[in-house]
Amino acid sequence: MATLSLRDLNLSGRQVFMRVDFNVPIKNGKITDDTRIKAALPSITYILEEGASLILCSHLGRPKGDNNSEFTLKPVAINLQELTGKTVLFVENLDDPILKKPLPQGTLCLLENIRFDKGEEKNYDILSEKLGKLGDIYVNDAFGTAHRAHSSTEGTTRFFSRKAAGFLMEKELLAFSQILSSPSRPLLAIIGGAKISTKIGVLYNLLDKVDSMIIAGGMPFTFFKAMGKEIGNSLCEDDFIEEARKILDKANEKGIKIYFPVDHVISQKLEPGLEIKTTNNENVPEGYIGLDIGPETLKLYAELINSSKTIIWNGPLGAFETKPFDEGTMAICRIIAKAKGICVAGGGDTVSAINQSNLEKAFYHISTGGGASLELLEGKILPGVAALDRYVQDRSMKLIAANWKMNKSPCEAMEFIDELIKKISETKPSGSDILIFPTYLALKETICKSRGTEISIGAQNAYFKDSGAYTGEISVAMLKEAGCKFILIGHSERRTVFREDDELINEKIKAVLANGLNLVFCLGETLEERKQNKTFDVILKQFKKGLDEITDIDRLVIAYEPVWAIGTGVTATPEQAQEVHEYIRDLLLRQFGKEAADRTRILYGGSVTPENVKELMIQKDIDGALVGGASLETGKYLRLVFYK
Ligand code: PEP
Repeated sequence: MATLSLRDLNLSGRQVFMRVDFNVPIKNGKITDDTRIKAALPSITYILEEGASLILCSHLGRPKGDNNSEFTLKPVAINLQELTGKTVLFVENLDDPILKKPLPQGTLCLLENIRFDKGEEKNYDILSEKLGKLGDIYVNDAFGTAHRAHSSTEGTTRFFSRKAAGFLMEKELLAFSQILSSPSRPLLAIIGGAKISTKIGVLYNLLDKVDSMIIAGGMPFTFFKAMGKEIGNSLCEDDFIEEARKILDKANEKGIKIYFPVDHVISQKLEPGLEIKTTNNENVPEGYIGLDIGPETLKLYAELINSSKTIIWNGPLGAFETKPFDEGTMAICRIIAKAKGICVAGGGDTVSAINQSNLEKAFYHISTGGGASLELLEGKILPGVAALDRYVQDRSMKLIAANWKMNKSPCEAMEFIDELIKKISETKPSGSDILIFPTYLALKETICKSRGTEISIGAQNAYFKDSGAYTGEISVAMLKEAGCKFILIGHSERRTVFREDDELINEKIKAVLANGLNLVFCLGETLEERKQNKTFDVILKQFKKGLDEITDIDRLVIAYEPVWAIGTGVTATPEQAQEVHEYIRDLLLRQFGKEAADRTRILYGGSVTPENVKELMIQKDIDGALVGGASLETGKYLRLVFYK
């Protein structure tokens, strides 16, 4: 997990804006279950103890943009006050003057339901920007809402350069990444619930990961119909019969056995008190509905659970809300609790079954997020999580990027970073952002060393395919997993020595953006092209082709690197560089609009040294430098970073 943790940030004296999930059940103004509030306490306590002030933001219910007192967070403020023993400052209006200046250290503040603002669910910029002014650090601890791209979970991250996951968010992400990427095997998935239509993505994704799968609840009947079995009046989604066949085919191809129920508890209606029967096979007779798993199924499932080392459970195994059809689900809950393997469970009904059983402690992880946990099981990237890694382009800070090419062993790289950290901590802020591109071999060490500092680490290249037979290549996804924040794409050495063309560069850019990473995209003309007055034509072609079909450039940094200046000791004059930078900014404006053009950093690269850096950096459209040779010596690089 590459996302920064709260522990990585220096919180002392800062104001933290934290998105939490306080969407708790409230009856007659009283909270009936405060599990979600308690779940956020570790982050709240830590932030306050580290010496920050804290503004909490949450939604409650679906007020749909109206200020509806039924959905007020006031009862939560009272509960929070009791739980923390601290005064909670409840702020009803984002325009309250109290929010206009920094809050005193140690202040705990809760904002009124953010969904009273119409902009929240629409992810409006105006609200995002307003929230962005409420702190200098953004923390997201609301896993349950991380699958929503709303203002407080996604949009506002564009206005915070420092962001981190809260402890609850971190715990959730870790549990899911552990079971999905490196589980102890055998890995069993138990997927229940009413409808197959809501879980297709999950079924497909899990078939690539698990050793066996149980499908139960209402879902089996669509599969049974696809197999020509009798289903009586059981729930069936006729529009998904074809999809069910495809899932069965995929399981077959992969050699994964899907265990459907082998008997059912049936009744003529889903009503308590009616006659209940048990079938002796998977068929459901005419006039009946399959409402729960039968005893033989339970035996079969118990064996499977007991022989698995890891279990993923999402969805009840019968019509859980109506007694006695909750019995199968409750029995599975008890079996899992006693089993030796670990279980990660998620989904509203699943969690409420576990809570009813009082066996929560026996579960390795019970997710607080229904929709969010399903999307993780589908293999999706949650927008609220991706946004935490969003690189914020702050053009008031120069970005001084170091391209180390084939230089520095992992040891040398670590020494360099150590020295850099020491120097940065001793002096006043440099006013520059630091980005280093070491060799692949030194990535691990430099990423570890720079965690929690303001140094970003990137890779000098990546291949655009996620996996496959591409000897010698490393995918963007792998680099992201390793903790890289940036990828350098289109460097002239890759264009010339490795014959990378604009089409390949475009594929790579798409892969970087699809993976939610940031990139430095290089372009520049050769000496010959400059002599022939073709500079602007070359830049135009590289820009257009490289960014073909790209619509969102939030994560893009451009580097203008005239090939004739790279490693030659010949630097473009400030005027030559500014002229091309202005042209690139104009291309940005025309293709992506004014806001994007104003925000995007354009670096200059080509024999930048401590001697010439200042005159280049003062140019209007030069937002930093990409440096090769002069970045290899700590002393020289520091002079670049501290050029002001
Ligand atoms: C580079 O490698 O991108 C570069 C600009 O190198 P140098 O600073 O050595 O010209």
